[in-house]
Amino acid sequence: MSRVPPAVEAAAASRAAQLHASDARYARQRTLREFGPASQASLAAARVLIVGTGGLGSPSALYLTAAGVGTIGLVDEDVVDASNLHRQLLYGTSDVGRPKLEAAAARLRDVNPLVQVITHETRFRAVNAHALVADYDLVIDGTDNFPARYAINDACVARGIPFVYGSVSRFEGQVSVFGVKDKPCYRCLFPDAPPPGTVPTCAEEGVLGVLPGLIGLMQATEAIKWCTGIGELLAGRLLLYDALVQRTREVALPRNAACRSCGDAAQAARAAGQVEEPVLSQDTTPTALAARLAAGDAPVLLDVREPWEHALAALPASVLVPLGTLQQRTPSLDPHAEYVVYCHHGGRSAMAAEWLRRQGFARVANLEGGIDAWSREVDASIARY
Ligand SMILES: [Zn+2]
Repeated sequence: MSRVPPAVEAAAASRAAQLHASDARYARQRTLREFGPASQASLAAARVLIVGTGGLGSPSALYLTAAGVGTIGLVDEDVVDASNLHRQLLYGTSDVGRPKLEAAAARLRDVNPLVQVITHETRFRAVNAHALVADYDLVIDGTDNFPARYAINDACVARGIPFVYGSVSRFEGQVSVFGVKDKPCYRCLFPDAPPPGTVPTCAEEGVLGVLPGLIGLMQATEAIKWCTGIGELLAGRLLLYDALVQRTREVALPRNAACRSCGDAAQAARAAGQVEEPVLSQDTTPTALAARLAAGDAPVLLDVREPWEHALAALPASVLVPLGTLQQRTPSLDPHAEYVVYCHHGGRSAMAAEWLRRQGFARVANLEGGIDAWSREVDASIARY
């Protein structure tokens, strides 16, 4: 990436701020006594990273762009699927099959051309978390998996960047703001990810289309409050929403002084300059794995998909252990062996790999992009589905 001289960058930022300040599109919120031109200027200067442009990320991105957050970063690597459309309103029917970030950036630039939209086409994980959050003031957690959520938490806490958490399932949702100084983080609430297969995903369990819309907008609301300093943040509080009875509840969250991420010892270590190294990548790409296999290396290839998927397409000589059965079957696996875990796109296998590492398996790699990437990059004779 080419570097822009600081003076040029400052002049561009100042021009952008002037454009934002005078634009008629913000008239209704500028009129608010509690908001005013000063808050509009704060939004114009703010940089917000939205991790995941799905059900939660869609409303967050649309409304934060419309509200005039100066810089919006988006992280995703999926393509638009027809099953996304009932809740991911960043995309239309004509976008099916298109990379999400390409469609999202086009839509957001139309919503508000004053906003700078930056796309990061990748999967958010521990190894790239620090680099991705470093240039932003606030992060919106729009992820649907635990490895990404813990990676957001740990990187944000280490760098003193707050993040707005949201999650949905069936008819219920949760929101909170984590990583604010002296307030709890996500690990204070849940120290570790649950064993794989014990918490069903939206894909398995379903979600009412409006649910991520509601929760995503609550996240956007907290982001605007944090950027402008108005109101009282949802930090140290967990908001629970139940759509079926149209009721919210609130739970007070204490900070855990022994938390691995934000606890006293972790803070002291950071203050003493013991910079945490991001977790080293233990993932592998299809081409890297293919080269190893061709050279005679033989890690155990662990397929954590469902039996019907394994029957459709599988890597040669791989062992099938569906994610939902992994916890039960872990004792029968050799902890000293080397594993490459794979699934369809790399999400389930990331959870499985993290679980195995936590059980003391030292040599576990996730196959990035799953068997789908393998089919695209290494062996086109493997069926895609
Ligand atoms: Zn914590």
